[in-house]
Amino acid sequence: MSFFRPHIDAMQAYTPGEQPQAGKFIKLNTNENPYPPSPAVARAIAAVVERGLGRYPDPLATAFRARAAEVLDVEPDWILCGNGSDEILTITMRAFVGEGSLLRYTYPSYILYRTLAQIQGAKTEEVVFEPDWSLSDRFTAPEFEGHAPRLAILTNPNSPSGTVISPERVLELAERLPCPLLVDEAYADFADDNCLALVAQNEKIMVARSLSKSYALAGLRFGFLVAQPQIIRGLVKIKDSYNCDALSIAAATAAIDDQAWRAGNRASILATRDRLIDGMRGLGFNVLPSQANFAWCTHPDRPLKPLYEQLKANRILVRYMDYPGWGDGLRISVGIEEQIDAGLQVMKTLL
Ligand code: PMP
Repeated sequence: MSFFRPHIDAMQAYTPGEQPQAGKFIKLNTNENPYPPSPAVARAIAAVVERGLGRYPDPLATAFRARAAEVLDVEPDWILCGNGSDEILTITMRAFVGEGSLLRYTYPSYILYRTLAQIQGAKTEEVVFEPDWSLSDRFTAPEFEGHAPRLAILTNPNSPSGTVISPERVLELAERLPCPLLVDEAYADFADDNCLALVAQNEKIMVARSLSKSYALAGLRFGFLVAQPQIIRGLVKIKDSYNCDALSIAAATAAIDDQAWRAGNRASILATRDRLIDGMRGLGFNVLPSQANFAWCTHPDRPLKPLYEQLKANRILVRYMDYPGWGDGLRISVGIEEQIDAGLQVMKTLL
């Protein structure tokens, strides 16, 4: 006999990308940033430790909201902070998607959306990208199998493809959708454009951001949502009282304050991204142009699972993805130049 709700018993657990705890790997599997964060981050953490951790943190992360509002040109009450953008996804899911109602999202994209819907006991609809990675009007259909969607999620830039849907198209989709549209912009800082400005144009549009990738703080856990204030006020009811701790609030505030660091880091990542893509194409892979800090590499005839295993045996960790009904590929994160060169060299010998 199980004490769990039936849909918890029925669901599979989400498997995050591997985080080896022992041994030395060239780690290119979870889209982390290979560089150390802004030096201001360590100073901010040290100052909090100095002041002491005896008090609860600020429930709304006011300092971060104030600084981020200036950087992003929005008002502080348009921002909700979370323990990673994963928590932002959880909060929005709990807010909009109840038992038996429908979540719509793109496929193939971030696999966690399905898991979060399953926890809610919700139904899911996966709208498959077109062969050119555009999104058809099916994404805006008023219903699916008799249910109206209660929330739609668009990963933009998308993972694993690194492709983007233009802001003009996103606005068009949002206008037609019968529900809110969460644009998951975890990788937007590496892209040419983003959907932040759309939030003011349509209250259905919410934009989720992460400090894990473009601020090199995946270990810290900090993300945020930008949405109109009436939406933020509703979501605040749902979040844990102290969902962001004092160390991460201070660190994230220092990180977003250092836009010079972010711009320099972005330039490095984009340059090495080109090197990775050129190198993989040179080895016979099909590689999509990427607007993120990773590249999606497929191969016309070579099975990729064994190659992934061989790379791992050589201490090079990339992400092997197999999407049922779609196909498989290697998603390779942009590391530092030396890591990419070493990875390409090993790949060459294996091929
Ligand atoms: N969205 C997408 C598309 C992602 O790939 C990730 C990272 N796995 C996240 C959100 C979550 O990022 P985090 O919780 O580290 O902010």
